Amino acid sequence: MATHKPTHPKLSLLAGLPVDVTITNIVKHEHCDELYVSFSTPQQRSCPHCGSNDCVIKGPKRKQTVRHIPHAQRGTIVTLFKQRFLCKACCATFYEQPQWLHPSLHMTQALFTTLVLDLTQMLSITMIARQNKIKVLKRISYGLHSFETFRKE
Ligand SMILES: [Zn+2]
Repeated sequence: MATHKPTHPKLSLLAGLPVDVTITNIVKHEHCDELYVSFSTPQQRSCPHCGSNDCVIKGPKRKQTVRHIPHAQRGTIVTLFKQRFLCKACCATFYEQPQWLHPSLHMTQALFTTLVLDLTQMLSITMIARQNKIKVLKRISYGLHSFETFRKE
């Protein structure tokens, strides 16, 4: 398992991630490449439960790993750390939800968009999963099909 410390500031664009996401490390696994990323937490936080902006940071960040679009025929996963917040108005806690992450499936929006576009082609689910270097864990309904992606291998 080799690690590589990237330095170029626009590496995230090459990797299909927003420019404000910084790749802090790349770990090569046998079956995939893992990108560790950091990003700044927005100043304005709205509570997803009541809409209040009176929210404060609560506790440490939580690690999350999601699937991402493949790069150079290699499967890619992204590991990030999400901040938890407490809403002072309704006392609910919630995690920040970066726009480039799919809100419920464990994947980036970039991969989700790719999968949805692939589904408009005459391709089998198996073929789509193979070319995106993911595995179909179970099929849940999203339009005609959907995907649940794999954990880190
Ligand atoms: Zn609230």
